[in-house]
Amino acid sequence: MPRDYYQILDVSREATEEEIKKNYRKFALKYHPDRNPGNKESEELFKEASEAYEVLRDPQKRRIYDQYGHEGLKGTGFQGFSGFDDIFSSFGSIFEEFFGFDRRRSPHQGPTRGRDLRYDLEVTYEDAVSGKTVELSLPKYENCSACAGAGHESGHEPIVCPACQGAGQTVHTQGFFSVSSTCSHCRGRGRLITHPCQECRGAGKVEVVRKVAVNIPAGVNHGNKMRLAGEGESGERGGPAGDLYLVIHLKAHDKFERHGDDVHYQHMVSMALAALGGAVEIPTLHGPEKLVVPRGIQTGEELLLKGKGFPSVRSGRKGSQIVHVFVETPKKLTPRQEELLREFSEIEKNKGNGVKGFFRDATENLKKKLFV
Ligand SMILES: [Zn+2]
Ligand SMILES: [Zn+2]
Repeated sequence: MPRDYYQILDVSREATEEEIKKNYRKFALKYHPDRNPGNKESEELFKEASEAYEVLRDPQKRRIYDQYGHEGLKGTGFQGFSGFDDIFSSFGSIFEEFFGFDRRRSPHQGPTRGRDLRYDLEVTYEDAVSGKTVELSLPKYENCSACAGAGHESGHEPIVCPACQGAGQTVHTQGFFSVSSTCSHCRGRGRLITHPCQECRGAGKVEVVRKVAVNIPAGVNHGNKMRLAGEGESGERGGPAGDLYLVIHLKAHDKFERHGDDVHYQHMVSMALAALGGAVEIPTLHGPEKLVVPRGIQTGEELLLKGKGFPSVRSGRKGSQIVHVFVETPKKLTPRQEELLREFSEIEKNKGNGVKGFFRDATENLKKKLFV
């Protein structure tokens, strides 16, 4: 015949919810398996108190128990607890509240969230302009399916570590001081696996390569981070998986340089084209484009191709391609070219607007560009 629940928790039949909780806390702390490793008697008392609390904290169960006793509860299908796992999963949040940091010192219990992972992804300028779906191969640890992450064969529960009696810590006393350190025998776990799972050799985790398809939005830039919720490592004992952080690295381009959503490009034009003006074809990230070079352009002047930059990730509005023009002075001349240039030079002299004037204009222009 099971003992009376009120008697177990040492409360009156009129006890309030708070009184019941308070007394259960007292007994749970006293008989907690972590504090009494291997002690069968406190194990039983812990289970008994937990069962009493499970009934008395629930107004409906409590009413049935008050009226019909233990027999009445059996009629509702209530069976008490089969073991510690049962108790801990039922009272998870209460134990968190009761034991605070003590529970964290015993990592073999509550659910733990999986670790976050970081993945560095290199993206080309072309991919960043148009966006891309990439398939990532992520090496990560997942719970071993053979043992469901427990690390041991079923039917062979881990034993209490004999070196630390399950505390996970060993205490050395030296004079007035006591120094505690992590138990080296069980590496702080407090439990030892006697029959490790064949699949994961006791780790509870196996490395797997998971394929994840990720949509890289158009316009991403160097250093952008993307969070993929739940794609990190799997949690322990039913805890949620961590997140995956994708960090974008923009691969340097040999022709273009990105500034914000604009892309800068250097273009050399011949002396003649600079003087006469004309159309040229230049590369952009969106394919080749016709660029109209106005007559009389100088080194250092900029021409704009609107909408040929990167789209903004937020607004989608496109930046520009900024073309930096450089006028190329020919180093080798054919006799005919030389003849024409000499003639050109003569005319310039006669106009009274010689080489000096041209030189001054060009340097003024460069200064403007460099110091603005
Ligand atoms: Zn396993
Ligand atoms: Zn130990």
